[in-house]
Amino acid sequence: MTTTLHHRACHLCEAICGLTLEVEQDADGEHHIRSIKGDRDDPFSRGHICPKAVALQDIQSDPDRLRQPMRRLGDRWEAIGWDEAFALAAERLAAVQAQHGQNAVAVYQGNPSVHNYGLMTHSNYFLGLLKTRNRYSATSVDQLPHHLTSHLMYGHGFLIPVPDIDHTDFMLILGGNPLASNGSIMTVPDVEKRLKAIQARGGRLVVIDPRRSETAAIADQHLFIRPGQDAALLLGMLSTLFTEGLNRATHLPIAGLDEVKQAVLPFSAERMASRCGVPALAIRQLARDFAAADRAVCYGRMGVSTQAFGTLCQWLVQLINLVTGNLDRPGGVLCTEPAVDLVSTMSGGHFDRWQSRVSGLPEYGGELPVSALAEEMLTPGDGQVRALITVAGNPALSTPNGRQLEEGLEGLDFMLSVDLYINETTRYADLILPSTGPLEHDHYDTTFNLFAVRNVTRFNEAVLPKPQGALHDWEIFIGLAEAFAARSGVALKPTQPPQQMIDMGLRTGRYGDGSPLKLSLQALREHPHGLDLGPLGANLAARLKTADGRVQAAPALLLGDLQRFAAQPSGDPEQLLLIGRRHVRSNNSWMHNYHRLVKGKPRHQLLMNPHDMQSRGLSDGQRVSIRSRVGAVEVEVLASDEVMPGVVSLPHGWGHGRPGVHMGIASATPGASANDLTDERLLDRLSGNAVLNGVPVQVVAA
Ligand code: SF4
Repeated sequence: MTTTLHHRACHLCEAICGLTLEVEQDADGEHHIRSIKGDRDDPFSRGHICPKAVALQDIQSDPDRLRQPMRRLGDRWEAIGWDEAFALAAERLAAVQAQHGQNAVAVYQGNPSVHNYGLMTHSNYFLGLLKTRNRYSATSVDQLPHHLTSHLMYGHGFLIPVPDIDHTDFMLILGGNPLASNGSIMTVPDVEKRLKAIQARGGRLVVIDPRRSETAAIADQHLFIRPGQDAALLLGMLSTLFTEGLNRATHLPIAGLDEVKQAVLPFSAERMASRCGVPALAIRQLARDFAAADRAVCYGRMGVSTQAFGTLCQWLVQLINLVTGNLDRPGGVLCTEPAVDLVSTMSGGHFDRWQSRVSGLPEYGGELPVSALAEEMLTPGDGQVRALITVAGNPALSTPNGRQLEEGLEGLDFMLSVDLYINETTRYADLILPSTGPLEHDHYDTTFNLFAVRNVTRFNEAVLPKPQGALHDWEIFIGLAEAFAARSGVALKPTQPPQQMIDMGLRTGRYGDGSPLKLSLQALREHPHGLDLGPLGANLAARLKTADGRVQAAPALLLGDLQRFAAQPSGDPEQLLLIGRRHVRSNNSWMHNYHRLVKGKPRHQLLMNPHDMQSRGLSDGQRVSIRSRVGAVEVEVLASDEVMPGVVSLPHGWGHGRPGVHMGIASATPGASANDLTDERLLDRLSGNAVLNGVPVQVVAA
């Protein structure tokens, strides 16, 4: 029996906490995880973890996890070898494209793709060969407005300023709940301690949310807002900043600030109050407080992106930081300077170069909005999607109108999934290719170092040996690429393992061969707890990728969207609106089959304000039917004054009761899928991002 200690970043969420794992090897050579703890020597996460990290051992030992390629024969699955699997995938995909064209094969990549560096480095090695315009991902049910705003204002979709949470005096959060999410587009382990530190140094935390979230509960001020109307509050604030002369100079080169001023002045706090449900005085005072703080951050996250004016909201968030002098300023919002820098090495993105076939929705960065995927599968005609590849995704639960998407999946000629599970989506696949488990491969975070609140870097070796016969994600994509290239006669460029790519990225980066630090993979191996490369600093002027080298404060597309906002009628105040919710023990649409995470109080219920329940004759705990334009679900309702009157809240990622799903769900109830209610026709029309908050619903006794 031998025991070894391993250090490794948790890849489950954006916080990328450092972990210390104790692993025992028994006399038979079997490995057993004995403990998973926060790594106190990790300079970034300082020993912090959340309950999900401990569940990494459940992924490792999960009997539901697939460990070899599986082919579906009717409602039966059979294990097959890798070569046979690659040949089958290549044959079927090439046949679909030969008969129906390249766009007849669609691709959907789920959220875990960006948490796994082998997927980041190699998925496109295969998927790029398909040359399909039907590419989709979880981006368009989440943060697409962030990327589009940065693309338009700063010239690069990844040049997203991050809150300097450790040095700010005032943090205004809209549509974000970092105490549950652990931070997002703000990689910030131990966020609760860092938020409380703002208050401890005399600063303020203000949260705007239709629900008194976990973060709102520790805030100095919480304001309820009508779902989907954050743009009204932000416009009222911005207008106040200009009319009351609260704007401050900035060192950045700016184009279009006068146009912004003229455009937003009519949206006074008084005019905006009735739209967002926040009194005009409160909007004005918020603007004054924000401007009065020495160092302030306005941060809008998923709740404000997944609404009808998501991109407008993200633009207004940037503008509030800009006009108060907090953009590119310590204590305000700053861009990172990562060791492997996607901003330097990747294109800045493109927008609307082509549109979806049926609804004409715009592409961004080569991807179409995922709300269009079902209609692209279901609408006959030239270019109809006939085959689908999903990678680490579960769009049946995680994209709008999931039931409609399932109809599309049922009718496909072929479906390939690269996934660890037979889940609500992959149960429709003809072939599933599972990779090694997360602890069985090495790890470098290519994405979230880019959004971290300090400049950090870390490489970790695999904790456990690779099982015999298993393949890493990147090896699966090479296998698929080689088989597809052989079958279709396309040329394949040579590639190299992810480790070598990261080594190259480190050496050629700003801390690499040309710098005193001389970072390389070998250097990182010598620092398994990770390296702190210092606090964020002002750098935006030098990093801008716009054509004229200036911040574009008034992109025509966004100014134009103001007119769309102005023309939109105020919503019916009597209409009940659905919003989402997440919990720190839940990881989107997976990990609900781990007892360790779902034990205790059920967390899948609908939250409803007691006044709304009373007016409908509903009682606490009763089963209710929630209906929207696209469908209905049944679930228990909980009376809660956490949600404002007129709002109900259902967490996403549940709804595991579908037949054929090979996951023993550990919770007492599989819950209901919020995306059986969300509507694929409700979109941020500018970006095509889905509306997941502010969905009109009715709630009646079941
Ligand atoms: S907050 Fe939890 S899930 Fe996220 S990285 Fe840290 S330990 Fe992992």
